[in-house]
Amino acid sequence: MEFKQDKMVLSQINSFYSSGRISMNPKYQREHVWSRVQNQKLIESLLTGYGTQKFLFTVVNNEKDNSSVYEVVDGQQRLNAIVAYMGGIPGKEFSLPVELKKSPNKKLHPYAGIKFKKLPPALAEAFMEINIDVVKVEDATDGEIRELFLAWNNGTPLRGMELISPIGGAFITKTLSLVKTYKTTVFSAVKSQANRRGQFTLTVARMLAAFLNGTKNKVSLKRYNERQIKEHAARFGKSIKSDIFNRIISSLDFINASITKELTDKNIKLSKATFVTLVYVTDHILQTYAQPSKSEYKKQFMKFLSDLNDAEEDPKHKLYSVAMSNADSEHSWVIKFDAMLSYFTKNIMLSEKDKKRRFNNSERHIVFQKYNGLCAECGIDCTYAKWEIDHIIPHSSGGKTKMINGRLLCRDCNNKKGALIPT
Ligand SMILES: [Zn+2]
Repeated sequence: MEFKQDKMVLSQINSFYSSGRISMNPKYQREHVWSRVQNQKLIESLLTGYGTQKFLFTVVNNEKDNSSVYEVVDGQQRLNAIVAYMGGIPGKEFSLPVELKKSPNKKLHPYAGIKFKKLPPALAEAFMEINIDVVKVEDATDGEIRELFLAWNNGTPLRGMELISPIGGAFITKTLSLVKTYKTTVFSAVKSQANRRGQFTLTVARMLAAFLNGTKNKVSLKRYNERQIKEHAARFGKSIKSDIFNRIISSLDFINASITKELTDKNIKLSKATFVTLVYVTDHILQTYAQPSKSEYKKQFMKFLSDLNDAEEDPKHKLYSVAMSNADSEHSWVIKFDAMLSYFTKNIMLSEKDKKRRFNNSERHIVFQKYNGLCAECGIDCTYAKWEIDHIIPHSSGGKTKMINGRLLCRDCNNKKGALIPT
């Protein structure tokens, strides 16, 4: 990675932009699109002589015609403001505020309320000659650029996943597939689901990382900052444990089926903390107990939310500390998890799953005889095919591993069933 400190004048920035030599790379986009006022403030600051921070460009060389393009890593909104003011972006031209006439800085008075192209030539010239500092980076990998970006921003968190997504790999792919699958359903019930800067994607990535680490109920998402997410992405480069991923999917599907519509109708939004806790609690329940009734689950969850809502205004409420513990600390996650779980287990009829999951050999053969060796679904003679003993009431729904709950299925028929019960 090589650095070059440089200076450019604003007229250069403008002409480089219009000739395509400066390009905005959406993967480095980290700020909201600026408002007109923010644009105006930057131009004022430049005119006052305060300048602006350095711009960070990466140099992308095109071997074919020996040309190069600068991609803006840091400073996209500032660059946009400058070019827009100079009329370089069709329809985005703006004038500086009329109030500048009253500014203590007399230098600004001639610019008040006037667009760039209406400025007297001398003023326009002076504007175009304003210098800005530019750092050009060559031969840098995506990883190096991210490091650099972090260092520049004093290690402040990146806005979401923009700089992480290009890493790729199984972890990132799984995260993005979760976001895509549940974007319009479960996730739409979560606050700030707009995901404009990949914030929500980051929450999902953190949740996945916490699950993969076997964090159980201590879901301190704060532990999973971008650096750790990156480490996860590297660690699970090729594959992640699919059983854990499938557990998250099961919980999200369950939540989706039992909760989302009601929330949407009442326009209730979950905080990110409540949402992740809900996934954890649901996973815990699905792992430990026979699957509860979805309508009952929904009812209790809605009750929990409205209780939580009431608790916010009542310090004597038993859920007050839960309602107040939105902070992203390990302690508050534990409080939330415990409160939600005990609420659910107290109010929902739950029955334990049969601890015995597999039929033993003698049970298998007795059930085989009972069915005369014929598959209960398709009738194929299993003497000549691979076969399994299936739970009639699924084990996950509380079905017992007893001969009365077993039936003979050929492997094809068993594979067609959604929930695979091991023989
Ligand atoms: Zn069959």
